[in-house]
Amino acid sequence: MLALDFDGVLAPHGENRPLPECEAWLARCVAALGAERVFILSNRPDPARAAYFNQEFPGVRFISGVRKKPYPDGLLRVAELSGAETARIVLLDDRLLTGVLATCLAGTGVVYITAPYVSFRTRPVVEGFFALIRMLERWYVALLNAAA
Ligand SMILES: [Mg+2]
Repeated sequence: MLALDFDGVLAPHGENRPLPECEAWLARCVAALGAERVFILSNRPDPARAAYFNQEFPGVRFISGVRKKPYPDGLLRVAELSGAETARIVLLDDRLLTGVLATCLAGTGVVYITAPYVSFRTRPVVEGFFALIRMLERWYVALLNAAA
């Protein structure tokens, strides 16, 4: 099962539809895996985003109504909906202390996206904030590793 974060992974922060290259990639994922094996797990489950996926990628399930990552609830919902063991789920996410931590708690696989999509031109303050957060959380995890 493929679970995808949205912000930074499919588009820069705050967009309601994936970038064109991500739409094309998602279409290839759906063709290869089947829509029923693809899930969107965003901490911003905006209705406009849900409407986009319903329209453009019917069958791809958009998770909402769960506690936000790093709670494992969204990944556990993917397991419940798909009938797959958590070890058979992989989440692509660009945040260590939300998405990646959620995968540790849920026992799923993870792909940590180290070069997320950003648009400083469109949303300089928000993107600057998240760039700082990503840097701080990498520093924090490196510190934890050094202490271990
Ligand atoms: Mg993200």
